[in-house]
This record gives sequence, structure tokens and C-alpha cells, in this order.
Amino acid sequence: MTSLHESGTPSRPASAGLSALLRRATQVLADAGVPTPDVDAELLAAHLWGISRGQLLAAALRGDAAPGDTAAFDALIARRASREPLQHLTGTAPFRHLELRVGPGVFVPRPETEMVAQLAIDALRAVPDAAPVAVDLGTGSGALALAMATEVPYARVHAAENAVDAFVWAKENFAAVAPHAVLAFVDLADAFPELDGTVSVLVSNPPYVPDAATPRDPEVRNWDPPSALYGGEDGLDVVRVLSGVGLRLLRPGGTLVIEHGEWQGAPIRALLDADGWRATATHRDLTVRDRATTAIRP
Ligand code: GLN
Repeated sequence: MTSLHESGTPSRPASAGLSALLRRATQVLADAGVPTPDVDAELLAAHLWGISRGQLLAAALRGDAAPGDTAAFDALIARRASREPLQHLTGTAPFRHLELRVGPGVFVPRPETEMVAQLAIDALRAVPDAAPVAVDLGTGSGALALAMATEVPYARVHAAENAVDAFVWAKENFAAVAPHAVLAFVDLADAFPELDGTVSVLVSNPPYVPDAATPRDPEVRNWDPPSALYGGEDGLDVVRVLSGVGLRLLRPGGTLVIEHGEWQGAPIRALLDADGWRATATHRDLTVRDRATTAIRP
């Protein structure tokens, strides 16, 4: 593995310019296969030294020295090079307009799920009701629930999580972002019987990776909780449960929104159609891959 210090320049002081420091860190991350090594190096430096990425880049352009401890920076870069998730090292993950707290034990929110949130938010905003009820099942860090609770602030949002470690992160995020939303520690199959037949929008990003599939990215494979990833032989075990729970919770005309993998649109539409759902439709993400299926409760 490449060392943080270029060979052949042993006399160069560790505090040489910030720009050189970032360049070397970028190379270490690139050698480790990190997909966006320059961005990650910059974000880790900005995080460590408590400045914005813009301020960091301006300082590098001016030829400034590193604004703080370079050994601590090298240590963070080494952890990232071992493919610890960037978001665990900074302690936060961006999701739409939110900055959510994340770390070991919780699924890191993904950019493609922002589009799933949009489907739920659009459906929620279209409900002609002063306080429509929305539910997020398997909320993880709280991303989908908190997007709805903040972007449709008049909605009554409920979220369920049944993994202790994830629940702890969700609790922190709910308290910080939307203390008015309801977070329950419960299996999604049993969630919220008191809301039966009253929910306008039910959204979920369930585990949907087939058990035998191995996620490509080490950050996912080694760090995301298996219970948030794997959904049985075909990946659809939890989707089948969601279909039943959706028929119980949603009011007639209510909208179900389920995130899934790019090859799962057709089988999910088929299983929802067989359960009696109406208007099943699959939606693509920004990479033009099937990413979510919606359906209307009959
Ligand atoms: N989209 C996830 C991934 O990148 C899979 C998440 C899930 O199963 N909900 O691996």
C-alpha cells in the first residue's frame, strides 16, 4: 500500500503545503480503490479541521499550510483507505436537505433513496387532508421519515425500526430534526395497529439484496448492517410482508412506495398485483435504473 509520504522526498516537512497533503491523501485513497478519492480527502480534511470544503480548497489554492494536526488527518485517510465508510468517519450523511447522524450499526442513506423520498413526499402533498398520516417502515437512520416530516411539516409521520443499533441512531436524528414525529421500536409486520386504515402514504426502503448476492462495495459489505441489506433468497421477503402490512395500514386510495433493486420492478409489480393493489408502477433513479415501485390501495 502507498505510504502517505512520497518516497524520494524524505526531507520534506510533514506540514508542507495543504495542497500537497491533499494530493498525497488522494493518491492513497485512489490506490485503495475509493471511487472519489479527491472528494473524500477534501471532505475528511474539512471535517477534521472544522471548516467547509470551500474554505479548505481556498486555503489550498492560496498555498497555505495545513490548518491543523496532519497526523490526525493521515490517520483518517488510513481508515478511509481500509474502506471504512466516509460517513462513519465524518459521523454524518447528507440526505436531501438533512445532515443525519450515522455510524456503525446503521445503514448509510444513499443518494438514490432521495428520489424514493420524493415519490412519498409528492404523494403526501397531494392528499387533500390537513394532517395526512405517513409511515416509514424500517427507517434505519430515519432518512425517509425525516424527509417527509420536514418537507411536509403538517403530516403526521410515524416510523418503525426493529434493530437496536439502528434505533439508537434514529432516535438521535428524530430528536434533532423532527421531535414531533413518532419513532417506534417494533417489527414492521406488527407496526402501528392503531393506524390501520388511516395512513395516506406508506414508504419503505427494505432489505432487498438476495442472500447469495455480495455487495460490490466494501463499505456496504463490511459495514452496513446485514439486516438492512439482505431480503431472503430472491431479496423480496420483506417486500411480501410490506404488501400485507400496506393493505392493513393504508386507507383506500393511499399510496405505497417501496425501494428495490434494479431488476426487481417486474416481480414486485407482479406480487403487488396478485395481492390486489392498483396502479402499480415502477420508477427509475437518476442513473436510469429501476429503483422504486408505487401502488394504490384498492
Ligand atoms: N441499495 C442498497 C445497496 O446499495 C441495498 C439496500 C437495501 O437493501 N435496502 O446495497
